[in-house]
Amino acid sequence: MKSKFQPNEHGYYGQFGGAFIPELLYPNVKELEDNYLDIINSEEFQSAYKSLLKDYVGRPSPLYLAPRLSEKYKAHIYLKREDLNHTGAHKVNNTIGQILIAKKLGKTKIIAETGAGQHGVATATVCALMNLDCTIFMGEIDIKRQAPNVARMKMLGAKVVAATSGSKTLKDATNEAIRYWIQHPETYYLIGSVVGPHPYPDMVARLQAVISEEMKLQLKEQTGSENPDTIIACVGGGSNAAGAFYHYLDDEAVELIAVEAAGLGVNSGQSAATSQLGEVGVIHGSKTILMQNEYGQIVEPYSISAGLDYPGVGPLHAYLHETKRAQFLNATDEEAMLAALELTKLEGIIPALESAHALAVLPKLNLRPDQVVVVNLSGRGDKDLEAYINYLDKD
Ligand SMILES: *Cc1c(COP(=O)(O)O)cnc(C)c1O
Repeated sequence: MKSKFQPNEHGYYGQFGGAFIPELLYPNVKELEDNYLDIINSEEFQSAYKSLLKDYVGRPSPLYLAPRLSEKYKAHIYLKREDLNHTGAHKVNNTIGQILIAKKLGKTKIIAETGAGQHGVATATVCALMNLDCTIFMGEIDIKRQAPNVARMKMLGAKVVAATSGSKTLKDATNEAIRYWIQHPETYYLIGSVVGPHPYPDMVARLQAVISEEMKLQLKEQTGSENPDTIIACVGGGSNAAGAFYHYLDDEAVELIAVEAAGLGVNSGQSAATSQLGEVGVIHGSKTILMQNEYGQIVEPYSISAGLDYPGVGPLHAYLHETKRAQFLNATDEEAMLAALELTKLEGIIPALESAHALAVLPKLNLRPDQVVVVNLSGRGDKDLEAYINYLDKD
C-alpha cells in the first residue's frame, strides 16, 4: 500500500510540493524525475551507497541511551548520533547519495548553494571523493560569517562564488545557483535538504531515511521493540527530521515532534518558526509554507543556529503540519543554548546548535517514566564554538 506521506506522481504531498521551475530547467528536472527511483532502487546504487556510508561516513551511527539526561527528564532518552558522521552531521548521507546519482546520470560538474556552509562542505567533500568539479554559491554576508567552512570548501577543491544581490544570504545564493543552472544545464544541482522542485524533496528524504532504518534495528535490539514512543528532530529545511521520521510516518502510534527555531521569540520579528509564521507560497521551486510579507516577498529569517535559519520548510513538513501527523514546537536561541550546555555537562557531548533546539523541548514535554524518546542529534558542536564562547563570556 502506498503511504499517504509519499508524494503523488506530480510530487505533491496534499497541496504541497510540485515543481515550479523555469521552462529552461524542465529537461534537467525531468531527467532526474524519470531516473531517480530506478537508480536508488538498483542493486548497483544500494551497494555503493551502503558501502560508502559504512566505510567513509562511519555508519551505522550509534543509538545511545543517555543515562543522565534520562534521569533528569524521567524517561528513556536515546540520542541518534548523527554528530558522529564524517563531516559532523547528517548532511553527508544525502550528498553521498546524490553524488552517486549524478555520476550515474553522467554528470561531471556539481553546483550547490549553502547558507551556513555545512551543505557546501558536505558537497565539496563528496566532489573531492569522486573527483568531480564543484561550484558552491554562497551569499557574500554568509561567506564572511562562515569563514572556517569557506576555508574547508576551498581546501576540498571547490570554487566558492559569492552572491552579491539582495540580502546577500541564502536565498540570493539559491537564485544565483538556479541562474547558473539555467545557463549550464549540463551541471547537476545538488540540493541539501528536503526542499526544491520535485523530485528533490522525495529523493533527499529517501537518502536520509537511513537514519530511521537504523533506528528500527537499534531500538529492537536495545528495547525489544522497533518503535519508540516519540521522535524529536529539529527542522531547518527538514532533512534530518524527514530521515528520522521516515519509516515511522505511517505508524500513528509513534509521536513525531518537529522543532523549529524561534530565534528571539516567535513573535519578536527575529525568528525562523515557519509553521507558526508562514503562509502558503512558492519557494525554491516548490509550494509549501514560508515566511513572507503581504506582497509575497520572503521575510529574512533569524536564528542563532545558521542551519535552521531558513524561511520555509520542505513540502513534506508543510503536509505533516497541516495533517497534524507531526507536532510542531519551537525553541528560542536562549533555550537552545541552555540545552546545549546541559547535554555537554550531563553526557559529555557538545551538540550542534541546530540539534540543541530538539533537546530544548524536553523540559516542555510531559514525559512518562516508561516513555521511549529518540532525539535525533543531527550534528556536532565544533562549528558553533564561537557562539558558545560568546554566550559563556557574557556572564
Ligand atoms: C543543516 C543542518 C540542520 C538543518 O537542516 P535540515 O535539512 O532541517 O536537517 C540541522 N542540524 C545540523 C547539524 C545541520 O547542519
